[in-house]
Amino acid sequence: MSNDLKKLERNPYQYNGEFTLFGNKQGSNNSLEKKLYIESYGCAMNFSDSEIVAAVLSKNGYTTTEKLEDASLILLNTCSIREKAEQTIRKRLEKFNKIKRTNKFLKVGILGCMAERLKSKLIEEEKIVDLVVGPDAYKDLPNLINEVEKGQRAINVLLSKDETYSDITPHRLNTNGINAFISITRGCDNMCTFCVVPFTRGRERSRDPQSIIEELNDLGEKGYKEVTLLGQNVDSYLWYGGGLKKDFNKTSEIKKSTAINFSKLLELCATNQPKIRIRFSTSNPQDMSLNVIRVMNKYENICNHIHLPVQSGSNKILKAMNRQHSREEYVELINKIKDVIPNCSISQDIIVGFPGESEEDHKETLDLMETVKYSFGYMFKYSERPGTVAQRKLMDDVDEPTKKRRLQEIVELQQKHSLTRTKEFLNKEVEVLIEKTSKKSKLYWSGRNKENTVVVFPKENYNVGDFVNVKITDCTSATLLGSAIEYSKNN
Ligand code: SAM
Repeated sequence: MSNDLKKLERNPYQYNGEFTLFGNKQGSNNSLEKKLYIESYGCAMNFSDSEIVAAVLSKNGYTTTEKLEDASLILLNTCSIREKAEQTIRKRLEKFNKIKRTNKFLKVGILGCMAERLKSKLIEEEKIVDLVVGPDAYKDLPNLINEVEKGQRAINVLLSKDETYSDITPHRLNTNGINAFISITRGCDNMCTFCVVPFTRGRERSRDPQSIIEELNDLGEKGYKEVTLLGQNVDSYLWYGGGLKKDFNKTSEIKKSTAINFSKLLELCATNQPKIRIRFSTSNPQDMSLNVIRVMNKYENICNHIHLPVQSGSNKILKAMNRQHSREEYVELINKIKDVIPNCSISQDIIVGFPGESEEDHKETLDLMETVKYSFGYMFKYSERPGTVAQRKLMDDVDEPTKKRRLQEIVELQQKHSLTRTKEFLNKEVEVLIEKTSKKSKLYWSGRNKENTVVVFPKENYNVGDFVNVKITDCTSATLLGSAIEYSKNN
C-alpha cells in the first residue's frame, strides 16, 4: 500500500474557505453568448443554492462553463460565516477585475450571505461588481441581469417569508451522478450569538414534503445513489402548509395535527427510495428527537452518522452563545443515540476563543471531547461578525495567540480520537458507495461508508456508483484502506 494513500482524503462536506467551480468544459470565446461561470464558497447550502441559480439562468438561455475566460457572467456564491471567508472573496474579485479590463462584455455578480450582509455597500466598495443578490432573490436574477445589460448596477437582497425554491429542479453541477443535495429548510431561527446566518438567510421555513419526495424520486430515476438533506437545522423541519416555523403556533388545529416533522420526512424519504442512501446535515442538538434516532435505526438506507455541532463544552459559554442546551443535555442526547444505534458516528463543530472563554472553559471543551470521542470535526477560532449579539454586547477578549493555541489543542485531540474511531473498523467489512477515483492514486477508488468515513481501495472491476463490501486492512485518522470483497446486496 502506497504511503501517499495514507494521507488524508478530503471530506466533501467540510466547511472551508476554498472555492469550487461548477460547469461543463465546453466553451467559446463568443462574448455575446450567455455563458455562466459560478463559484461557490462555504457551506453545503451554498453549493446547493448554486444549482438553483444555474437552473433559473438555464431557462434564460445560459449554459455553464468551467472556463473563466469564456464567461459572459461570473457569479460568486459567497459565505460570511467568518471574516476570512469574506477576505477570500475580495481577493478573488481582484483576479476578475483583471479579466474584466480585457472583456468589456463581462458582468460580475455576488450572491449569497456576503451579498445579503453588505448589500449596496458591496457595490460601493467593489467597483467591479455589477450585481448583488441575496439568498432569497435568485428567481429575480433574469430581471436583474437585464438591468445590468442596460448599463445599470442591480441589487435585490429582500429576504422572504416563504421562498423555498420548491418549484425549481436544481441544475446539477460538477456532478458525479451519484451524490446530490436536497434543501429541505431555509433560514435559521436559533439566534446563536456568534452567528450571522439568521441575518443573511432570514427566518426558518420548511419546504413542501411533496416537492422534496419528487426531487428525490427524480434523482432515483436518474441513477443517483446518495442524497443529503440540507438545512441549517434539519431536525427543526416542520411543514404545516407553508409559512415561517415561528408562526406554527398561530396555525389552525387541523394544520397542526397533519404537520410533517423531520422524523416523518426522513421516513418518507427512506421508504420512497429504499436503494438510495440518505444523509442529513446539520442537526442542532436542541431539536434532535428520539423519533429521528429511531427512524435512523429502522431503515437500512439511512446512514449511521450525525453531525452534531456542540461549539463548546462549557455551560457558561454555551449560555453566552445562546445555545439552547447544556453540556449535560448534550451528553444525554449522545447516550440516547448510542443506546439506539451503538455504531452511529458523531461529528462536531467547535469554536474556540468565544468572548469570555477562560482556560477552565477550554479544558471543559477538551474534556467533553474525551467523553464523546467524535469521529471527526470542524474546528474554528471565534471570528467576530458585525451585527451579531456577541459583537454588540460582548468583548472579543481572547487574544489571537491564545485562540491559536487552543485551536491547535482541540485539533490535535480530535486527530487522536479520529484515529481511535477509524481503528475500530480494522479487520471489519464495511459497505462503501464508490464516488470517484482516489486523489492519491488513479488505481484506487474513493468512497464513504455509512458512518461517513472515507474508504480507499484498489479499483479491480468495480465502477463509480457501485455499493461494494470492503474489508478494512489499514487506516489513518481520516481514511480507511482496504480491498473489495464483493458487491453489497444494495446494488
Ligand atoms: N447550523 C449549524 C449549527 O450552528 O448548529 C451550523 C451553522 S454554521 C454554517 C457552521 C459552523 O460555523 C458552526 O457550527 C460554527 O461552529 C461555525 N461558526 C459560525 N459562526 C462562527 C463565528 N462567528 N466564528 C467562528 N466560527 C463560526
